[in-house]
Amino acid sequence: MTAAKEYIEAVYQKVEKRGPHQKEFLQAVREFFNTIEPAIEKNPEYKKWNILEQMAEPERIITFKVPWMDQAGHIHVNKGYRVQFNSANGPYKGGLRFHPTVSESILKFLGFEQTFKNSLTGLPIGGGKGGSDFNPKGKSDADIMRFCQSFMTELYRHIGPQLDVPAGDIGVGGREIGYLYGQYKRLVSPETGVLTGKPVVMNGSLGRTEATGYGLIYYTEEMLQSNGKSFKGQKVVVSGSGNVAIYTIKKVHEYGGTVIACSDSSGYIYDENGIDSDMLQDIKEVRRERLTEYNKEGSRYIEGSVWDLAVPYDIALPCATQNEIDGTKAKQLLENGVYCVSEGANMPSNIEAIDLYIENNILYGPAKAANAGGVATSTLEMAQNASHGHWTLEQVDEQLKQIMINIFKSVDETCQEYNLGNNYLAGVNITSFVKIADAMLHQGI
Ligand code: GLU
Repeated sequence: MTAAKEYIEAVYQKVEKRGPHQKEFLQAVREFFNTIEPAIEKNPEYKKWNILEQMAEPERIITFKVPWMDQAGHIHVNKGYRVQFNSANGPYKGGLRFHPTVSESILKFLGFEQTFKNSLTGLPIGGGKGGSDFNPKGKSDADIMRFCQSFMTELYRHIGPQLDVPAGDIGVGGREIGYLYGQYKRLVSPETGVLTGKPVVMNGSLGRTEATGYGLIYYTEEMLQSNGKSFKGQKVVVSGSGNVAIYTIKKVHEYGGTVIACSDSSGYIYDENGIDSDMLQDIKEVRRERLTEYNKEGSRYIEGSVWDLAVPYDIALPCATQNEIDGTKAKQLLENGVYCVSEGANMPSNIEAIDLYIENNILYGPAKAANAGGVATSTLEMAQNASHGHWTLEQVDEQLKQIMINIFKSVDETCQEYNLGNNYLAGVNITSFVKIADAMLHQGI
């Protein structure tokens, strides 16, 4: 074992000992640590300053109680969190997730990955994440508003436009950000830059809603083209049917591919002629109904995971949630003839699945790079708010596209510098690791 590897393993053991039950967080750290040995070997300062252990510990975790009263007068209590993971590159930045599975482990994994993702955008933002185990599914607008108001009544003292800027994630969209912002304004002041993903009428940015999905396709198209391929004429499967999935599907179709399936938490739609993204958007975003409502002729709804689908296709775009693809599902993808997997969700592939992608030379777009378009556009929203300006959709979209292309280029350069071939997983991790590590070195302890 090299000295660099010994150092990495020793730090991993410490991280594991500190939180042996935080399985999602340990998974994210393990996956990252598995790839960065060449960078540790190249610069002895990282080990000397124990950068890895510093990186794996969040700067601060805030937890709080969120009591709220529903329409019927019943009192509920949820748990609220904000993980301020790393500020080496600027104010903490990252979404809020409202979902019953939310735990400290999940938010630590998301905050850890967010730090590296944000550094790849080239914009001055650190990493953070927050949320609650509150389940917004099936709740009335009034209940959502009351919950958001209570959540912000605790969170407001920990955030600010130069300190920590939350946004949306699973279960938090424009409606929730609107209510959160309304309460922040009542408690503090109308500082628009304190949250991003605001509705456009509330000084949100045009293009923010579309950004994660569009950005995923801009990044993936760049990776495909650099390998002599493109979306044109390709059959694609997308998991999920939320914000990321909807705009991913729209952009794939614009680029000449066909999305033959998309999913929700209980099943998936198989539509050989291509998912009708307008119908999907109406069901999920406007009517807030289930995917079973999708009734286009020739399509069918099948219960189970979309990754069990056994038909030939080319590209897989997981856009639902963490750990949706395990080793068995990854093997199914390979059997289907999939040659590219690019991630709109955060950590949708487990380590076994990732190992299979790399062994089989799959063109792999890891989440930290491929879904950075959302947070990048959030930062463009911060810039517009700070300058009291407003850009057109074209101006925002052009910048988003350029950012995603630049991310791929910097990853590709790292692959060349470290002789990684097209192991883009190592390319992504090393590029972002070096950025954050160097920023930390300059700042001392
Ligand atoms: N939740 C998104 C992500 O995972 C966006 C965060 C943001 O816009 O701050 O990157």
